[in-house]
Amino acid sequence: MKKTKLAVWKFSSCDGCQLSLLDLEDELLEIAESVDISYFLEASSRLKRGPYDISIIEGSVSTFHDIERIKAIREKSKFLLAVGSCAVFGGVQALRNYTLPGEYPQIVYEHPEYLSALDASGPVSAHVKTDLELRGCPPNKRQILEVLTACLHNKKPDLSSGSVCLECKRKGIVCVMVSKGIPCLGPVTHAGCGALCPACDRGCYGCFGPKETPNTESLSAWISRELGMSREDVLRSFRHINCYALEFCLESIKHEPKN
Ligand code: SF4
Ligand code: SF4
Repeated sequence: MKKTKLAVWKFSSCDGCQLSLLDLEDELLEIAESVDISYFLEASSRLKRGPYDISIIEGSVSTFHDIERIKAIREKSKFLLAVGSCAVFGGVQALRNYTLPGEYPQIVYEHPEYLSALDASGPVSAHVKTDLELRGCPPNKRQILEVLTACLHNKKPDLSSGSVCLECKRKGIVCVMVSKGIPCLGPVTHAGCGALCPACDRGCYGCFGPKETPNTESLSAWISRELGMSREDVLRSFRHINCYALEFCLESIKHEPKN
């Protein structure tokens, strides 16, 4: 039987999403029975030419060369899966989208004139059509496995919907915000991680990005009023890993200093 050809590509990122894939360990061996891992530089130097049945993209599009690469990958891939906050929303590197072009390089590099980058770091979907997106920084490895399995069986993947709060309730986790006054973005953050942070007595910082129709305004008002969070801290809560996700971006702008 012809194996499904899989390719994994890195763009501007920290490699954490690829590590989530490698973290599947035992399952990867089973996957390798049905999948031909044709291009995965982090895992193997054995590379095969496209076309590919599935391409997994990690990282945001940040340079002119990135745009050329992602378009070429799209052309040779039947199914394009963007994984992680960088590929889906532009990642933490999108923080520079809130500064003047070239502002950060001037601070960081002695010779910023050698750099060639886009003014904004953006998601893959800003440049090519994606067939599916998996959120998270990093994504949940079980979700990656679910998507790969669904692709192999030609079925729709069973992915979580709703908010992190719902996952807390399903798992019986006591709300850290209500019981301990720890700020938490769970009410406006997309489900999928299994309420990882509240399970460890920490507030969610929104790494899965906004849920469907998030009421960010109401949450901002509540954490300001009930937890005494400053305007600047509310801004920072939303302008974080998923700062370029539309709803988080708009909420952060509302909390910019007033001139
Ligand atoms: S801890 Fe956070 S995610 Fe969990 S129920 Fe409370 S607000 Fe929601
Ligand atoms: S609880 Fe929030 S910050 Fe923590 S892993 Fe889940 S989505 Fe990410």
